[in-house]
Amino acid sequence: MSMRTSFGAVAALVVITAVALIGGTSTARAAGYYDLNPEQVADDTYVFYGAMENFSFDNHGAISNTSFIVTADGVVVIDTGPSRLYGQAMRAAIAKVTDKPVVQVYITHAHPDHFLGNNAFEDVPIGALPGTIDMARQIGADLASNLYNLVGAAMRGTSAVVPTEAVEDGQVVNFGKHELQLIGTSGHTDADLMVLDKTTGVLFAGDIAFHDRAPTTPNADLDVWQAALAATEKRDFKLIVPGHGPASADAAPLLQTSAYLHWLRSHFQDAARQGESQAEVLFEPLPPRWARLAVEPGEYRRSVSHLYPAIERATLNKVGAPVAR
Ligand SMILES: [Zn+2]
Repeated sequence: MSMRTSFGAVAALVVITAVALIGGTSTARAAGYYDLNPEQVADDTYVFYGAMENFSFDNHGAISNTSFIVTADGVVVIDTGPSRLYGQAMRAAIAKVTDKPVVQVYITHAHPDHFLGNNAFEDVPIGALPGTIDMARQIGADLASNLYNLVGAAMRGTSAVVPTEAVEDGQVVNFGKHELQLIGTSGHTDADLMVLDKTTGVLFAGDIAFHDRAPTTPNADLDVWQAALAATEKRDFKLIVPGHGPASADAAPLLQTSAYLHWLRSHFQDAARQGESQAEVLFEPLPPRWARLAVEPGEYRRSVSHLYPAIERATLNKVGAPVAR
């Protein structure tokens, strides 16, 4: 490339960037990145379904489900998506459904696809578990800059806004006729909030539940997660909205997540007993039941790096341990 061409290309890029930045502040531009159409799943209750994909420049990071409940007291939002522009697009789409203002946000957990839209909700209380607030404070900025790398321009103007209001397990809050029970649990991360709308029976499960999409495990504690799934199964709900994948009128998202995590662990234990290295485990084919999940085998391979070393150590220690006296 000659100097002249390269200078011309740079100049053109500067112009394009300037135009994009000017346009970027408007909601119309936000809608250009994020074409958000809420799907009504129950009375007053809507979900923006995320793409069943990994983060990419094409999906702009919109891979998780976000939701809202329209009440007489205003709109309650559950999770804010991956970026400022996504949050703005949410608000624009909500405004097409109701003229009620957004009055409350709840964040299920501090993963970037679920809370980095907080920038667009700084005028309302943002509730989360204390562990979520800590995690957002400690690694939020790193999560945001990592997502810039994975998603690109749609992230501009996004910073990690730490939730402003600590909530606790068992807390009951009322908005209009909607009675919301806040359920504090963990296992997918150190702090996972679920919101159960007692009025409609809709359970917003966050990433405790995945449906037809492989669960992510970067901060997982498998035992704790299984306990959370078992406890959730016993709850009285009419519809479950998972963090990723379609809503379900039965416990399918809970059962599927539990079965997958169970398989993952026993598969890793078997591999460790057979002396398989991490590299060997990485490229094993998945059984058909799991191979058909969205984002496989990529998510499985990430789980190998998250979970296999510890399971391998624990398994080998057990094999090599002296008999207890
Ligand atoms: Zn997620």
